[in-house]
Amino acid sequence: MSESSPIGHGGRLTIDLAALRANWRVLAQAAECPETAAVIKADAYGCGIARAAPALWAEGCRTFFVAHLSEALTAREAVPEAAIYVLNGFPPGRAPAYRAAALRPVLGSHDEIAEWAAANRDEGVIRPAALHVDTGMNRLGLSVPEGLGLAGDPLVRQAGIDLLMSHLVSAEVEHDPLTDHQAAAFARLRAAYPGIRASLANSSGDFLPSCRADLARPGYALYGGNPRPGRDNPMRPVVRLEAGILQIREVAAGETAGYNARWTAPGPRRLATLSLGYADGFPRASTGRGEAVVGGARCPFVGNVSMDLIILDVTGAPREALFRGAPATLIGDGLDLDAVGRSAGTIGYEILTNLGRRYERIYRD
Ligand SMILES: *Cc1c(COP(=O)(O)O)cnc(C)c1O
Repeated sequence: MSESSPIGHGGRLTIDLAALRANWRVLAQAAECPETAAVIKADAYGCGIARAAPALWAEGCRTFFVAHLSEALTAREAVPEAAIYVLNGFPPGRAPAYRAAALRPVLGSHDEIAEWAAANRDEGVIRPAALHVDTGMNRLGLSVPEGLGLAGDPLVRQAGIDLLMSHLVSAEVEHDPLTDHQAAAFARLRAAYPGIRASLANSSGDFLPSCRADLARPGYALYGGNPRPGRDNPMRPVVRLEAGILQIREVAAGETAGYNARWTAPGPRRLATLSLGYADGFPRASTGRGEAVVGGARCPFVGNVSMDLIILDVTGAPREALFRGAPATLIGDGLDLDAVGRSAGTIGYEILTNLGRRYERIYRD
C-alpha cells in the first residue's frame, strides 16, 4: 500500500483527480468539437460527483450530464454555475424540482416535451432542455421520423430545446456499420434543426470523425476506461484499489480453500488472505479468474470470493512482499479497469460504478 494499511477499512481506493483532468483535456482534443462536456452519472462512475465535478470545472468543463434528479442536485452543489443535463428526462409532475435547481431535462417523448413546454408557459420563462432522438438503440428518445417531424414545430421553441442529441450503440467496435448508420441519421436531424447545438459522441465516439458535432459527451474514458478496446489506452488511470494482506499460510497438495471447497491445491501452495470482498463492490463473479498484484507479481484468486475476504495464490510472489499488512493491488499496477471487468465476465463500466462505499477513499490532485 502506498501508505500504511487502511485503518478500519478493508480496502483503499485512491482517486487521481489530476489524471481525471488530464483525461478530460485529452478527450477535448480528440473530439475536435467546440465543446466537451463530462458525463458524471452514477456518482461520476463511482469516483464521487462532489470531487470529480469541481475538478473538471477547474479544467474548463462547463457542461455535465447525469442520469437522475438526485444526482443532478449533488452536481448542482458541486458546480453551481454549470449547465447540467439530466439524461433520464423527468418523471411526471417533477418539472418544478428541475426548474428550481436550473436543471435541463433531456426530453425523449412527446409527453415530456409537452409537460416541459407547459411549465415554461406557466412560469413565463423558457428554460432550456435537450431533445433526445433514438437513432438505433431503441431505448430512450423520439424515433428518427418523430424527430424529423417535430422540427420546425413551435413546441421546439416552447420547450426551450437548445441541444439535439442521440446516443451511439457500439462506438467502441471498430468499423461497426451501425455507427455510420446512426451518424447519417443524426446528420439528417441536425440539418432539420438549424441553430440548435448537437451532441452524439460518447467516449468511444469521441475518436470517430463521423460522430463529431458541437458537444462531446464522454464518460467512461474520463475515469481511465479504454475508449478503443484492443488498442493502447490513451487515458491515464484514475482509480487505484488496494487491500492489505491479513494472513499468509502454506497448504499441501489436495487441500481446498474457501467456501464450498471450489479450489484444490494442485501442489504445495502459499496463500494470502486479503481484507476485501464482494461487499466492497468487488465482483464475486471474478472467482477463479481474478488477479491481484503483490510485489510486482500477478497472483490468481483461489476459491470463492467471499463477502469480506479474497484468497490469493501468492506462491509466485517475492517472499519479502508477503507479510501481515502488505499491500495487494486489485485495480492498478497493470490491472486496468477493462481487464478487471473481463475477469468478472463484465465490463470496466460496471467495475467502476460498483466501487463500494466501504473503502477508505483518498483523493489526490
Ligand atoms: C452514459 C452516457 C454517455 C457516456 O458514455 P461513455 O461510454 O461512458 O462515454 C453519453 N451519453 C449518454 C446518453 C449516456 O447515457
